[in-house]
Amino acid sequence: MATKRSRTIPAPGRPATEVLTAGFDPRLSVGSVRPAVFRSSTYVFRSPESAERAFAVSSGRADRRPGEDVDLIYSRMSHPNAEILEEQILPLEKGARAALVFNSGLSALATAFFRFLRPGDAILFTEPLYGGTLHMIHDLLVPFGVRAVPVQAGDTAGIAAAILATENLKFVLVETPANPTLTMADIASAVKAARRRKDRPVVAVDNTFMGPVFQHPLALGADLSIYSATKFLAGFSDMLGGVILGRDPEMVRSLKGVRSLLGTILQPDECWILGSRLATVALRMNKQSKNAERIVKGLRGNRRIDAIHYPTTARDPEQRRIYRAQCDFPGAIFSLEVKGGKKGAFDLLRNLRIIKSAVSLGGMESLACHPASTTHSSMTAEEMKASGVSPGLVRFSVGLEDWRDLLGDIERALAAG
Ligand SMILES: *Cc1c(COP(=O)(O)O)cnc(C)c1O
Repeated sequence: MATKRSRTIPAPGRPATEVLTAGFDPRLSVGSVRPAVFRSSTYVFRSPESAERAFAVSSGRADRRPGEDVDLIYSRMSHPNAEILEEQILPLEKGARAALVFNSGLSALATAFFRFLRPGDAILFTEPLYGGTLHMIHDLLVPFGVRAVPVQAGDTAGIAAAILATENLKFVLVETPANPTLTMADIASAVKAARRRKDRPVVAVDNTFMGPVFQHPLALGADLSIYSATKFLAGFSDMLGGVILGRDPEMVRSLKGVRSLLGTILQPDECWILGSRLATVALRMNKQSKNAERIVKGLRGNRRIDAIHYPTTARDPEQRRIYRAQCDFPGAIFSLEVKGGKKGAFDLLRNLRIIKSAVSLGGMESLACHPASTTHSSMTAEEMKASGVSPGLVRFSVGLEDWRDLLGDIERALAAG
């Protein structure tokens, strides 16, 4: 037995300490400071009785007793590296009491949808929404008989009213700030509306853009905080992953049951990689956010730009209020509304030399993309218009390069267009 069962080592401390001490006992990995990678697909039972017990606990028929060491079974259900990572990541998310890791952000969302939605139910979601999530709702959930109810991210009163009015509402998905316009949605208000319903729907927040460092949905009352770990959590654009954190361990355990059936668990090697990135998430995100703030400041008033979308540049008083209420810092993503529509946007992308033209975000290298023709191209013209995905919109993810070089790159590319 070479792993896990961290409850044997209490790790008291603040998050930056706990992330380096929780979840892993070196004595169980022959003294190794870093966990070993356990790539086995199956695990040897100590006895027929302990195999029976492991299945009872795993299926939810019995509870694990405090300190009980239950045999592992099979890696689709769980494996040591997932268990280590799930304990390591807990202290990073305020209010989290249980975590699960997945092999992508979308597989985390798909697992949650399978758990909470049945034909005839409704899912309410803020728009704009990450392109892949929107695809999944339209191409998978709707054909299975789930009703999709979009609401505009910035419309706090409208979201609350829709949560109260939607029949058979089982799942509320709030993505904030929204991709790619950075529109913020009020998490606490959505939670309050959901709690006024007798058949309380689950409130989940896609926290990929700001969390876990700058925004804390569980502390605001949300049930689940969901991540594409591919982005800031992993941070090096070299792996896919997803995470769900929750306040209620029972709810998270029920998601684990669905994950076991779908096989959406993160693989051991990827768990090890992601685990090694957690201690630097706050360092990287703070630096990337500072870089973005400076670049946005430098671009203000540039005559080739019609607008800059960034949490601290919003003019709408409601957006400013939401920012103050739920974000600690503005983060590393901003979008520019370039003069000249699609041509202006394409010229900008073509002329960038340091910043690479690619989808994805949150990595240490800066990236830029044109949502209307790529990530959000499946939206209808009306959807794009309603949610501000305009032809001239270019989204930037700011990395760890020197911000002066990045600002110069954008200014030069704008001037060359
Ligand atoms: C990337 C992303 C996803 C999807 O995550 P994958 O890891 O690519 O599956 C979901 N939501 C947001 C906000 C994202 O940026």
